[in-house]
Amino acid sequence: MTRLSRRFVGPVAALLTIGLAGCGSTAALVTTSTPDLGTIGIAMPTTGSARWIADGDNMVKQFEALGYKVDLRYAEDDPKEQLSQLNEMIAAGDKALVIGAVDGSALTDALDKAEAAGVPVIAYDRLLRDSKNVDYYATFDNFKVGVLQAQTIVDKLGLKKSGGKARTIELFAGSADDNNAKFFFDGAMSVLKPYIKSGALVVPSGQTSFAKVTTLRWDGEVAGARMDKMLEGADEDVTLDAVLSPYDGISRGIITSLQNHGYGTKSKKLPVVTGQDAELESVKLIKQGVQAETVYKDTRELAKVAVQMTDKVLSDKTPDINDSTTYDNGVKVVPAFLLQPVNVDKSNLVTVLVDGGYYKESELN
Ligand code: BGC
Repeated sequence: MTRLSRRFVGPVAALLTIGLAGCGSTAALVTTSTPDLGTIGIAMPTTGSARWIADGDNMVKQFEALGYKVDLRYAEDDPKEQLSQLNEMIAAGDKALVIGAVDGSALTDALDKAEAAGVPVIAYDRLLRDSKNVDYYATFDNFKVGVLQAQTIVDKLGLKKSGGKARTIELFAGSADDNNAKFFFDGAMSVLKPYIKSGALVVPSGQTSFAKVTTLRWDGEVAGARMDKMLEGADEDVTLDAVLSPYDGISRGIITSLQNHGYGTKSKKLPVVTGQDAELESVKLIKQGVQAETVYKDTRELAKVAVQMTDKVLSDKTPDINDSTTYDNGVKVVPAFLLQPVNVDKSNLVTVLVDGGYYKESELN
């Protein structure tokens, strides 16, 4: 099958039986026609984090509204499981695949099969690496996510004022097998590095390279254990002023560790801890002044982008993109649409998240 004319519109006769009240006759049969656009396979990484559940639900609603069926699967952070889910989707004749990868480099076999079957592939939020068989990429400006996190640290520690005393920071990054992790970290370091270089920011553990600070599968417990280790090995006179954390689940693991080591009291305030995804549990912590910020990425908008891309490709139209240079997956530069992330802290969380309809105010208590 070619990459063209993949969208099959077959009328499906739907028989609706309608009782005609008061006319005394038996039921009348009305025949309507709904398009059958086929099934879209949606492969999401995990239900372990609220955002991916929202992403999946949003796409299901939007694809169904256009007349598609959906096969939504979660791989629970297991790359092999995700590979087999994709193979099943291709074997079942799904029309297109939307993939939020667990491990962005582990799916090339399935992507080859998709190409052979004429099934287009949209990378969802996380880049699919090492394959030419990726059509489009729907995501956020991932470098900017890190920039926003680091700017919060700079602002809240008042680093721009020269002559202040040196402040301390520890750094955390996401999972090395997720292309986004490096983008977030590089974005953050583009802001923090000059302060580290000048000595205004000191990293007590000395761990500053991406390789040293990653967190496998974005696991909060893994991050908490690393924080424990650093705090247990730390000089008792040193208090931590900030922790760069790439994601709310990791932030919560770090905060628990800090609290278990005496932080979060009047005499030993919690450091400025960043985050990402505006997860409800973390938004509550921001409201309470425990976590400093999160980066909000509206999953409803991301779903819209991915659904638009998929529908356009299947309709032989060209999807809207706004970036054709940034996302080199090792084999090709994948044309992308980047949404803008938004910095959220205590000062704007109600305006952004409640007024924006993402959460109800009552949920934040
Ligand atoms: C996403 C983040 C998320 C992280 C952990 C990344 O790929 O872009 O929004 O926090 O995965 O799930």
